Amino acid sequence: MIVPGMGKEGQLRLINSRVLIIGAGGLGCPAAQYVAGAGVGTIGIVDGDVVETSNLHRQVGHATSRIGMKKVDSLITHLRGLNPLPTYIPHPFHLTPQNAADIISQYDLVMDCTDNPATRYLISDICVLLCKPLVSAASVQKSGQLIVLNCPPTPQGALDGKHAPCYRCCFRKPPPPSSMVSCGEAGIMGPVVGMMGVAQAGEAIKILASALHIPPDDSASPPPERNLHQPTLLIYTYDLDSAVGPYSFRALKMGGRKKNCFACGENSTLTLEGIKAGNPNYEQFCSVPTARCTLPPEGRITAAAYHAARERGELTEHILIDTRDSEHFSFGSIEGAVNVPFGKLLMKAAAIKRDGTPASEVLPPGLGEADAPIFVVCRRGLDSQETVEKLKELGLDHGGERRIMDIAGGMKAWKEEVDPSFPYI
Ligand SMILES: [Zn+2]
Repeated sequence: MIVPGMGKEGQLRLINSRVLIIGAGGLGCPAAQYVAGAGVGTIGIVDGDVVETSNLHRQVGHATSRIGMKKVDSLITHLRGLNPLPTYIPHPFHLTPQNAADIISQYDLVMDCTDNPATRYLISDICVLLCKPLVSAASVQKSGQLIVLNCPPTPQGALDGKHAPCYRCCFRKPPPPSSMVSCGEAGIMGPVVGMMGVAQAGEAIKILASALHIPPDDSASPPPERNLHQPTLLIYTYDLDSAVGPYSFRALKMGGRKKNCFACGENSTLTLEGIKAGNPNYEQFCSVPTARCTLPPEGRITAAAYHAARERGELTEHILIDTRDSEHFSFGSIEGAVNVPFGKLLMKAAAIKRDGTPASEVLPPGLGEADAPIFVVCRRGLDSQETVEKLKELGLDHGGERRIMDIAGGMKAWKEEVDPSFPYI
């Protein structure tokens, strides 16, 4: 209350505010702690998952003793320990197009702490239609981003060049499915996502304490004074290779509301009823990645068949290339595998095309020129198919004389079909 700019009035606004935190994970946990600590009166939390051991390094609102408990209940237990006074409302299920409007309509401000693009678009669309400010953050591996959207909240279609954008104004299309990986698959640094969650809480508290969240009404009284800043995307990158790095934070200025935005633009046809009925189709829009098979059946072998052929001694002379990143490879690999990370292989292949280096140099010395058949394995069987195609394109199949095969389904299939004890991560 004694912080300049907050005061008793700001604190009272926080007590009378209702915040919805969607996602009780790496962002939601630190965000919720600070929102609860600041004295926000009502805090709703949405999450359908349960606490797992692998969450704990970053999801600081959970505990080893609560593994298996619904994340929503675990986080509320933690928050009550910090501050028993707010009203905590659990929503122990995932947000869907069918339930989103009913839940979000009960709150003044929404914090998007989720980790999948389809839900991000859904949350933003509902916030536009219900006139709710949205504090959106995201984080994976070693970077994070944060942006305040739809604030001050403005009705759909209102355009005078001064209104804040929605998520679709900033990110018209979702990232390509191939680049979408979850934290569980790609890995994540706890402090990075924690930093973004804390920053998210800071923005939410600022908005709630300043009455910027009050939507415009139809009464004759003038709206409260609004101090609209240029929308900014905060990007945080954490460089593990650098002991000192002064440029970890960057702020990118973003444009305002877009005239032709699908959700908030002047000709938008988006409605709450439409969303509930499945229009738009968020999953399809973000097309969740599915294993694609580009190779003909004769270019592939199942993990079980490859293993059986080795056991029968039919594959004494062969080369096994593992295209996973070295961090994954270091946790375990099939006996005899040679690690050639996919990214590095692509870079080498590009250099070969560019400057005429011998094609065999795409593989470690001696392997490219040899006649022994090549088998390629990756994590899930996608990169390996591209690798097979690339090696053939470079002529390493000696005009079709040399077999180059993909192990279908990658190390995931190896664990399922051959070795359940394999430490697949
Ligand atoms: Zn928009």
